[in-house]
Amino acid sequence: MGRFQKILIPFLGLALAFWFYSARENFKPEMLKGKRVIVTGASTGIGEQMAYHLARMGAHVLITARTEAKLQKVVERCRELGAASTRYVSGTMEDMAFAEHVVKEAETLLGGLDMLILNHVGTSYFGYFNGDVEHVRKLLEINFLSYVAMTTSALPMLKESEGSIVVVSSMAGKVGFPFTVPYSATKFALDGFFSSLRQEFSLQSINVSITLCILGFIDTESAVRAAADRLLVSPAPREECALRILQGAALRRRELYYRYGSTRLPLLLRDWAAELLDYLVRSRYRPDGRR
Ligand code: NAP
Repeated sequence: MGRFQKILIPFLGLALAFWFYSARENFKPEMLKGKRVIVTGASTGIGEQMAYHLARMGAHVLITARTEAKLQKVVERCRELGAASTRYVSGTMEDMAFAEHVVKEAETLLGGLDMLILNHVGTSYFGYFNGDVEHVRKLLEINFLSYVAMTTSALPMLKESEGSIVVVSSMAGKVGFPFTVPYSATKFALDGFFSSLRQEFSLQSINVSITLCILGFIDTESAVRAAADRLLVSPAPREECALRILQGAALRRRELYYRYGSTRLPLLLRDWAAELLDYLVRSRYRPDGRR
């Protein structure tokens, strides 16, 4: 290779990187002011925190989960924090008719939809795969099929508003993780469905963004209760995680990694050193669950 090429190639790389990052817009809370947003699984955890951030930013927030008493409290808090409006619909995402009903409520109550945040997750076990096929089927309905049903119902409104779909997934939806086999399967399914749908939107010039969120271990009550005995890493804060998701969504990013260092960077190994990555994942666990 000539000296000219040796200098030119790194220079072009740097110039391209500079252009790519400097051309990117920065997040401003006003981007979500007045937006009509559905947040699923918002009675607790990351979903609850997303509802509070959205309320502070002045969005219209429609939340859903099963537990009505918790949803009422979240709605009250959203009102105090300054939401443009705040409502809830309670029910289970095992029922596809309910999933569609939530979207219809957005049409009735908010007159449209700008952002659909799919975040709910059904209860599963944390341990070796126990062979329960029925549990896998049920979890696929809650964690995957209801996401598809809501997206399908919401699409006419999202096309109209040129809005966004946000899919909350996990590292366990990008690489094999032990002790979460059924959960991991549902998260891989989300990647397949929504990444393919994004391609079709692009081919059809449909201006609806899809942000797939790849999360590591977050300090929600359910995750800490399930995994703290076996995981050797400390969880990241749910408030910050919720904010990062909303920022990525407002900026219409295709994927969002939180925390970046413990999710995106290890995934760089996947195509070149898959066995090393598998080993690194396993090394973060205590197989017998004892401290
Ligand atoms: P969480 O605290 O357990 O909250 C789950 C939410 O889903 C709750 O609001 C729950 O409310 C609702 N839900 C559960 N079953 C439901 C059903 N059948 N129908 C309707 N709603 C139902 O969860 P999280 O830890 O915040 O996780 C939020 C998202 O982040 C999930 O998609 C999860 O996979 C992802 N994630 C979390 C972590 C983590 O470490 N926390 C890591 C990676 C990815 P009700 O019980 O009231 O219905």
